[in-house]
Amino acid sequence: MSDFQGLMEKLRLRKHPSKLSELLQYVPRPVLHKARELAAEVDYSLREYAPWQIALFSALLAITLLQLWKWALAASEDIRERGFVQAACDFGKSLPIIRGIVQKQQAQAVAKIRASLEEKPDIGHEPFKELPRQGEAPDKVLKRLRHKEGKDVRFPDGKSTVSGTLYLAGDDHKRLLNSVYSEFAHTNPMHGDVFPSVRRMEAEVVNMTASLLGGGGDSEVCGAMTSGGTESILTAVKASRDYMRFTKGIRRPEMIIGRSAHAAFFKAASYFNIRLIRLDLDKDHRLSPAAVKRAITSNTVLVVASSPGFPHGIMDPVPELAKITHKRGICLHSDACLGGFVLPFVRKRGQHHVPPFDFSVPGVTSMSVDTHKFGMAHKGTSVVLYRNADIRRHQYTGVTEWSGGLYISPGFAGSRSGALIATAWAALVHMGLDGYMKLTDDIMKASKRFEEGVRHTEGLEVVGEPSMSVVAFKASKGGPDIYKVNDLMSRRGWHLSPLQFPPALHMCFTAQHVDTIDSLLEDLQECVAALKADPKCCKDGMAPMYGLAAVSPDRSLINEFLIAYQDVLLSGA
Ligand SMILES: *Cc1c(COP(=O)(O)O)cnc(C)c1O
Repeated sequence: MSDFQGLMEKLRLRKHPSKLSELLQYVPRPVLHKARELAAEVDYSLREYAPWQIALFSALLAITLLQLWKWALAASEDIRERGFVQAACDFGKSLPIIRGIVQKQQAQAVAKIRASLEEKPDIGHEPFKELPRQGEAPDKVLKRLRHKEGKDVRFPDGKSTVSGTLYLAGDDHKRLLNSVYSEFAHTNPMHGDVFPSVRRMEAEVVNMTASLLGGGGDSEVCGAMTSGGTESILTAVKASRDYMRFTKGIRRPEMIIGRSAHAAFFKAASYFNIRLIRLDLDKDHRLSPAAVKRAITSNTVLVVASSPGFPHGIMDPVPELAKITHKRGICLHSDACLGGFVLPFVRKRGQHHVPPFDFSVPGVTSMSVDTHKFGMAHKGTSVVLYRNADIRRHQYTGVTEWSGGLYISPGFAGSRSGALIATAWAALVHMGLDGYMKLTDDIMKASKRFEEGVRHTEGLEVVGEPSMSVVAFKASKGGPDIYKVNDLMSRRGWHLSPLQFPPALHMCFTAQHVDTIDSLLEDLQECVAALKADPKCCKDGMAPMYGLAAVSPDRSLINEFLIAYQDVLLSGA
């Protein structure tokens, strides 16, 4: 003991005492004493082991602890990502007994899905499982195609019973697009020097679209065409992520969305390894600026506003959101896939309040706008827009090290259809400002009539205040099972979209619905009345599945059903 004290004295007298000894000064004596005793005890109990044995044991122990630590970190990350409830559910299902039960139930559900899709075998028209031995003559091929098409939902007199889906502006429009398609069917904008026509049309489609949405003039707004809304969104998210990495060095990107943001943003997060921060909406079904402010971190690369959201046709408050993101240098995407070719005209009509949502708002850095919805072009086209070319360049991929030559393409696709670009161009030029104005007038009148009808239907209520021609409605207190309403409407040939959080249905009105509102409302009211008279009726539709999805905390189980459903679809059932 006195030796030790002597040593301490000496250390204290040194001009530059070592860190360890300095620290030791502050350790209370009894503790030091205890530590020395303990060390002596350990030495004594290990006296029979050779040093190599001790070294080996220590190494093994260290490796084991390290593995345990890694495992605990992964588990906590996992729980943070999926939530505790989901993690617990997944753990439960990994137990052999429960796994067996779940698998059995899943098999039953899949059989049910398959049965609901499969029709009677189509006698005389076996599906092709391999190439025909001999190619068939054109008229025979066409005959087969007509037969197949005969199974699709029909649209007599251009009237539609399906939400969204069909966007046509009359026979002239339809004929024009079809003939343009056939004329440009062989073109590909990847060969810009071979087909300058489609290259120029792409630029014109982008410019015409931008000029509707706060671009054009001397603004720097620019963009590109893609294959659809999902690709525009994926492209914008990828470009924003890489732009933020380039400008701010963010390497663990996060993206903030509201629950009503389109499924494509979930896809983008999963494809591009972005942490998705999903916020609940406020009482008006809008993304709350205050909640966004709280959710922003130093890793936030992008905030998403829906203009409007697909589920309820409700606008997120872009000006308020932009104020927050602009100040912090965070990207803001305004998703106008649905609204891009309608809202500018709703604003011009001036009958409904639509807040600014485009590049006229400082802080909006990118937008997605579907030409293949209310732009009235063929399916397979959309426009992605950026505030300037500094952001857009991050959607490109240049390859300089390929033996196939110096390569660059603007987005995900390599080769693309020039015919689709040409039909989009033709649709925009054929419609013109007056065409879109008239279209907007028609669909807004139809949509408001339907909205009024729902408000006057006992048992139903409209979800929030729709900004355009999408009307979502749910059961009011004591009202019917809304998913059963959907099943009954399906039996009558209507195809509404089921929604969740809250359980609801919606209808997206297009030009094909203008003359169907009365029959739609009549059928809807009859279905609600039928369910009021007999709430237990209608057991075999999709309602049980949606009912389960509405209450099940186990989302991965619901996802298994989705996968089974997709498998059945891809099997050609
Ligand atoms: C339709 C839509 C999209 C994209 O859908 P696609 O089917 O890929 O064209 C994205 N956002 C909203 C709000 C939409 O309505």
